[in-house]
Amino acid sequence: MTAQIIDGTAIALKVRNEVKEKVAARIAAGKSQPALATVLVGERVDSVAYVSMKQKACAELGMTSYHKPVPADISQEDLENLIKELNADPKVNGILVQLPLPSHLDEERVLQLINIEKDVDGFSPINLGRLAQKGREPLFVPCTPYGCIYLLKEAGVTIKGANAVVLGRSNIVGMPAALLLVKEDATVTIVHSRTKDIPAVLKNADIIIAAIGRAQMVRGDWIKPGAAVIDVGINGIPVLDDKGNPVLSEKTGKPKQKLVGDVNYDEAKEVAGFITPVPGGVGPMTIAMLMVNTLRAAEIQDQ
Ligand code: NDP
Repeated sequence: MTAQIIDGTAIALKVRNEVKEKVAARIAAGKSQPALATVLVGERVDSVAYVSMKQKACAELGMTSYHKPVPADISQEDLENLIKELNADPKVNGILVQLPLPSHLDEERVLQLINIEKDVDGFSPINLGRLAQKGREPLFVPCTPYGCIYLLKEAGVTIKGANAVVLGRSNIVGMPAALLLVKEDATVTIVHSRTKDIPAVLKNADIIIAAIGRAQMVRGDWIKPGAAVIDVGINGIPVLDDKGNPVLSEKTGKPKQKLVGDVNYDEAKEVAGFITPVPGGVGPMTIAMLMVNTLRAAEIQDQ
């Protein structure tokens, strides 16, 4: 069997175009332009890149973004004051604090402070708590897990009644992904670093969401034939030549890297029914769902 490839780039583009049309329609109707505030603490290279992609997406979709870079050594009090200012600013619909924060800062207190109507990342304890409760709905769902579920639905995978295994239990991906699957009526098992015999756990999984940050760990023969595999992992590994030696970049002289997921794609695609590639799977969906959430924040605040 060769899996159906779930094209995250194409699906994310469709989502973004839908958001763009809705933004244009609301502006034409005299409503405000949705606005996202991005708070960047310090200058971590990956965080700078993620924030700039988010600002670019806002511009492309007709939304405003306010960039709030602050020094890495900002005090807890100053950062909390910035969040309070953004909470109070009626021009700001969504607040995104780029994680991780430097270790001297209390991440939980910062996230807790974000007004839940502006919590477009869905990380506030109230939104996450509502996700975990029966009969309650969060205002916002964390973007990466939201994207995973969206991809499954777009591919036509039946979630209701399926056996689903989520690899990873982080606050930002694994745990909310598992909670979302439960809300969609799947029977869910969560795998983490203390789980015994992971291949045996995966054997009956109709749906796998892998978010562990371990390059190509999930092997093809761990996967049930026909399963849907959503690979969240983003891992850099060295590019090797035919003899197994690292290939050096002509520009920098350093070993070339390529991105791979947590699943061994070449093996898995021969067994799975559906699979997301890395790159081009979950990655583009994360920003697309942030844009969905930012538009939703503006709509909630219209009321
Ligand atoms: P974390 O490091 O926060 O969490 C990793 C989880 O995987 C933990 O729950 C950990 O278990 C578990 N784990 C680690 N090693 C193993 C192992 N050998 N066997 C079983 N479980 C293991 O990572 P994140 O959730 O933040 O990210 C996961 C991956 O997803 C990363 O590659 C990251 O780059 C990627 N990512 C991709 C995004 C996208 O947009 N595509 C967005 C966010 C993340 P324990 O709890 O026991 O420590």
